[in-house]
Parts: sequence; C-alpha cells; structure tokens
Amino acid sequence: MESIFIILAILVLFFFFVQKRFIKQEELKDSVYKKKGPILNAQEVALYNALLAAVGKHGVVLSKVSLTNVIAPMATDKKEWFIASNRISKSYFDFVICDPRTLESRVVIELDDGKELNKGKVDRQKLLMHCCNSAGIPLIGITVKYSYQVGRLRRLLAAHIDLIEPDKEVRFCKKCGSPMVVKVASQGDFKGRRFFTCSRQPQCTYTENYNIVFEEEDN
Ligand SMILES: [Zn+2]
Repeated sequence: MESIFIILAILVLFFFFVQKRFIKQEELKDSVYKKKGPILNAQEVALYNALLAAVGKHGVVLSKVSLTNVIAPMATDKKEWFIASNRISKSYFDFVICDPRTLESRVVIELDDGKELNKGKVDRQKLLMHCCNSAGIPLIGITVKYSYQVGRLRRLLAAHIDLIEPDKEVRFCKKCGSPMVVKVASQGDFKGRRFFTCSRQPQCTYTENYNIVFEEEDN
C-alpha cells in the first residue's frame, strides 16, 4: 500500500518537473512571428481617413476595438455573466468614435463591404446590433460607396458627437430673431448634451439641436 503512494508521489513530481522544465520553456521560444501588413484593408483605410476628416478634433477615431473594451455584461448571476462575456470576447467593432477628452464611446461605425451575406456575417451583425442596442450605444452602418463622402459622414455623426465650436457658432432664434445661447441639458435622455435656446427665455421657448450640421459642404 505504502509503495503505491511513493510511486504516485514520484509520478506527480516527475510530471511537475517535465512541465516546468520543458513545456513552459517551449511556450514562448518556439513561437516565432512575422509582422503582418497594414492593420486595416484598403476600404477600411479609406473610411478611417474620411471619419478623421469628418470628426476633426471633435472626436477620436479608434479602429478594431474589442467589444469587451466598450461594453460589459450586466448579469449578476455568475453563469449568465460568463455566457454574456463569452459571447462578446472574440468580436470587435470596426470603428468607435470617442469623446476626445474622456475617450468615452459615443458611436460605433460598421463598414459594410458590400459582399453578400453569409451566416458568419449575419451572426456578427445580429450580435453587434443587439450589443449596441442593449448598452445604448448608437450604431451606424456605412456602405463602401459612401465611405469617401465627408459631408455625408458629418451629417450622420452630428446626432452623436458635438461637431460645432460654440464660440464660432452664432445662431438666431427662428421664432423671434433674438440671438441664441448654448445650454447643457440637466435632465432627461439627453442629459449632459448641449443645445441652443433662445436668449429671450422664458418669453420665447424656441430651442434647437446643437448638432444640426448645415448642408454647406461637399456632397
Ligand atoms: Zn426666440
């Protein structure tokens, strides 16, 4: 009986030794790498540059951002948390536009390459739509052919990021013609977002979306 324990102990020690000595060393040394080409393909680069031009210094454009860096599971149950976490662990967003000061995610951009839908693509779209919807992050799909149109991109993004410089932007009330002032919403769904309101408040209650981008640019 005693000898069985001794043999077992020797075996355990042996495996421990083998693992430590050989397997652990192999892990890094035997894996050799080469540098890949550009991180984004040509279509993605085109959209990336157009997005940079569209947001200017009002946003930071990040590319290929892991879902786990943008959203987190809400589940309190351990198993549910694990399932939810697993679902998003291997996917990434094509582009995430963030607030330039805090790098908080503001809007997700997905590039539709125009290729036909296969099961993988449909599953990915379903996942991304569900995740963004669930976490309350706007998701914009952009097809390849529009990716160069900076003006169009600005209008798409205007609802989600502040593209206007308040000191350069002078607006007049469309009801009474008085100058308008910028205020920050203190409550409701748009809490923290800026909007224009008539300076003659409370006599005049006209307000305007801060982010209306007027159509004076390229199309
Ligand atoms: Zn007014």
